[in-house]
Amino acid sequence: MAEASAGEPVTIVAIDGPSGGGKTTAARLLAERLGLPVLDTGAMYRAAALKVCQAGVDPEDRQTVVELLASTEIDLRPAAGGALEVMLDGFPVGDRIRTPQVTAATSRISAYPEVRRRQVALQRRVAARRGAVVEGRDIGTVVFTDTPHKFFLRAEPEVRADRRYRELRAAGADVTREKVLEGIIDRDRRDSGRSDSPLTCDETYTVIDTAELSPEEIVDRMASSVEGHFQRTRKTDARMP
Ligand code: C5P
Repeated sequence: MAEASAGEPVTIVAIDGPSGGGKTTAARLLAERLGLPVLDTGAMYRAAALKVCQAGVDPEDRQTVVELLASTEIDLRPAAGGALEVMLDGFPVGDRIRTPQVTAATSRISAYPEVRRRQVALQRRVAARRGAVVEGRDIGTVVFTDTPHKFFLRAEPEVRADRRYRELRAAGADVTREKVLEGIIDRDRRDSGRSDSPLTCDETYTVIDTAELSPEEIVDRMASSVEGHFQRTRKTDARMP
């Protein structure tokens, strides 16, 4: 458990995993079930990448990216449905962070430690207020290492590409399955291969293979693990002198 500012313990659920593994839907449903806000940390890195793209800066130009983002304000504010909305220089980012250009830039700029440091500080500050379901790549390994609730949602790249392809087509995007798979493999390589906060998991995680599971089944597994932990710790507390 993390500590709330008033000293009250709060519940943090970490959900990590690669793109297209079903994290976003699972995080939203689990947050609803547990009555917690949901924090999509990918959206925060995407907001930083949006600023880089808007400024016409090359995402590979680390120094210029870091300088630009040092004077950029990224913040979170409570929105409908328990979400925490990402604000860029005072304005909600909306769908502008979901374009292919911003997506490709995000996995480049998120490899820079200077970019990560500020985002992590904000994630800790906001989630520690009243707890949260936090989804990302490094939530259980770096941001909230002490939480007992860590889930890693995995699936083969082809399964994740199929899922993403269907979502994009349903949203009217003009894409091919091959292009989507290529993008997923490229992001996997960057996210897992970077030296600062690579995408990985260890024995403190519950790993869930999402290939054959519906969002409801994924959430049932996570919720029973979290609730089981609550019950066990309550029993322990009751036995304490
Ligand atoms: O989760 P989503 O696909 O929106 O994340 C976009 C990108 O943001 C990821 O591919 C990764 O490069 C970066 N990211 C990160 N650390 C996080 C969340 C996202 O580096 N905690």
